[in-house]
Amino acid sequence: MAERVYLDWNATALMRPQAAAALQAALPLAGNPSSVHAEGRAARHAIEHAREEVAALVGARAGDVVFTSSGTEANALALSPAIEISGEERPRDRLLISAIEHPSVRAGGRFPRDMIGEIAVDGDGRVSLAVLADAVVGTSRPLVSLMLANNETGVIQPVVEAAQIVHAAGGLLHVDAVQAAGRVPCDIAALGADLLTVSAHKIGGPKGTGALVRAREGIHLADPLIRGGGQERGLRAGTENVAGIAAFGAAAATVRQRRADEASHMLALRDLLERELRAISPQVVVFGSAAERLPNTTLFALEGIKAETVIIAFDLEGIALSSGAACSSGKVQPSHVLAAMGVSPPLARGAVRLSLGWTTTEADIERFLAAWRKVSSALSKGCSESKGAKDERGMAA
Ligand code: PLP
Repeated sequence: MAERVYLDWNATALMRPQAAAALQAALPLAGNPSSVHAEGRAARHAIEHAREEVAALVGARAGDVVFTSSGTEANALALSPAIEISGEERPRDRLLISAIEHPSVRAGGRFPRDMIGEIAVDGDGRVSLAVLADAVVGTSRPLVSLMLANNETGVIQPVVEAAQIVHAAGGLLHVDAVQAAGRVPCDIAALGADLLTVSAHKIGGPKGTGALVRAREGIHLADPLIRGGGQERGLRAGTENVAGIAAFGAAAATVRQRRADEASHMLALRDLLERELRAISPQVVVFGSAAERLPNTTLFALEGIKAETVIIAFDLEGIALSSGAACSSGKVQPSHVLAAMGVSPPLARGAVRLSLGWTTTEADIERFLAAWRKVSSALSKGCSESKGAKDERGMAA
């Protein structure tokens, strides 16, 4: 049987061998990192080494990294009215987020609903700077949360320009770099971010570990989500996930060395994939293709073909893809990202996402394309036949 082809790296990346080795090495560490004896110090050393590697990935100081259980938790930790800047101990008066944020940001953290505003995106899925500039007027200390790259379309957001607008208005900028880290440069200072979220499992580390990074000492997370012991400088209580954090550090160190090469490898394959896809199905719509995107992501749809049918057909062909639609309580909802981009619900329901990784090969893309030829022609045929049947009876069965 042919090997399976994994093209769902934005959902989660394969674990890097370096991360797996660091995980294996750290699992037997007996000590609690808060203990002062030798066993405790060995566990502490594993964490602090990882902290340096994660900090280096985003150009921060190790002391500004807070380890969390996930990107989701890091986002929730960041989104609090109680974030203070030294010398200005007043709460944030508004949270502004883009219309295409991940659900962990859309949930708004500890901001009440009526304090949250949404910033529209354009048809290419890029946040509108003009709308952001209008929205910060009338706020005095906003917290703005923008993703650096969208998980569905891969579209890169104008974060540097947004930072200027936010800072000119006296605000703070949180950047969710979960999908961008390891794929495009993510230097916290160059981006102009005050806070930045990363997640281990999207860069080849284990699932269940993330970090919130601050740009400088003067930013205080005055409202920890989890209180208790003084771990993570009192910002995240709970005995640390030593092995997970050690593996996160190893993944960060590896991706820092390899990012540029891996990105050009993935981009070449993604371009090949889109070129061939358009040749096979000239009607295909690739969302956000006019904007700058992550090198590994493509989200496309063909009118009349439903994503869930495509995903199942491809799974049977041995290929793992995902849809751009969210499934909640058994009903497939068109994605909020495509809705925000003004894509019609029928087209959005067909959105299929392919996301590539560093082990993806040209042979994987060829396998996908061969399967697409088969699946798309079968589904289009099925679609036109059922349309014909519907037309004859004048109504849907
Ligand atoms: N932010 C973005 C943009 C994501 O794509 C994800 C996960 O898919 C998250 C946050 C959440 O990260 P985690 O899975 O570590 O909770």
